[in-house]
Amino acid sequence: MPEPIKVIFLGTSSTVPTLERRQSSTAVIIRNETIIVDIGEDIQRAIIEHKVKTGKELTILITHFHPDHCQGLLAFLTSMDLMSRKRPVRIIGPEGLTDFLRNFFILFRTSVRYPIHLYEIKEEEGEIDMGNWILEWFPAVHFGFSLGYVLKEKDYLGKFNVKKALDLGIPMGPLWGKLQRGEEIEFNGEIIRPEEVLEGPIPGKRIVFSGDTKPNEILVGKAKNADLLVHEGTFPHWETDKHEKYMHSRTIDAAEIAKKANVKRLIINHISPRIKDVNEETKKVKEIFENAILSYDGLRIILK
Ligand SMILES: [Zn+2]
Ligand SMILES: [Zn+2]
Repeated sequence: MPEPIKVIFLGTSSTVPTLERRQSSTAVIIRNETIIVDIGEDIQRAIIEHKVKTGKELTILITHFHPDHCQGLLAFLTSMDLMSRKRPVRIIGPEGLTDFLRNFFILFRTSVRYPIHLYEIKEEEGEIDMGNWILEWFPAVHFGFSLGYVLKEKDYLGKFNVKKALDLGIPMGPLWGKLQRGEEIEFNGEIIRPEEVLEGPIPGKRIVFSGDTKPNEILVGKAKNADLLVHEGTFPHWETDKHEKYMHSRTIDAAEIAKKANVKRLIINHISPRIKDVNEETKKVKEIFENAILSYDGLRIILK
């Protein structure tokens, strides 16, 4: 049966944090695996505060190397070493990731004893099979090589159809278990494939992270019908030119993208202290796309 996916907003500010908002970071829990998207300043304490489990399978995704998205990384890695971490950590980010980390370790004359599996993204678009989910990336329209990410949970096997199994003469027992796990079996000299006794697959969820970006059509394509779009909304709706100059979006731009992409739900993050009245901003956003809110630190979304 599908397991709910948790999305926990650890930090929802843009570059300048506030008393209420830390710099950018979002945790996603897919089938007991923790994925952290960006890790700005002071995110370790947010991880503790919001009880995000990081001791087991852990992947950290970096969208780009602006400090508000990655300056918490070394502190977090070294803390896990002090806490005797043994399991590997996967870190994925744009080209330059290896140098970024190496320079940090040299500068601070430190290291960690657990394995770090680094993956530097060099192509503008692509995907990797992460086991329980697929990571897809695409270019954001920001400074330098900046990325957006799609986290696509793999489909679940369909329900086991008892009648079909009995019609094929397969007796209840271990052979049923194998078929339920998606394995082929041999029965009376014939190969039975799981598709013959399982209902259609149950689709996994898709979560899309815009990264820091100007509104763009590639993102609309990637977010098409997504279960959740996490889109930056650095600037308030009334901004006229700064969002263009600084290669960001306004909250209402995020809403337009969500509407065009027909996503199920929109959460706006990377919110600048310029946005003083969240209620007013939310109202403007909802005029364009109803199922939307502005995120806040500690916000938890469960995708069932
Ligand atoms: Zn940023
Ligand atoms: Zn940025």
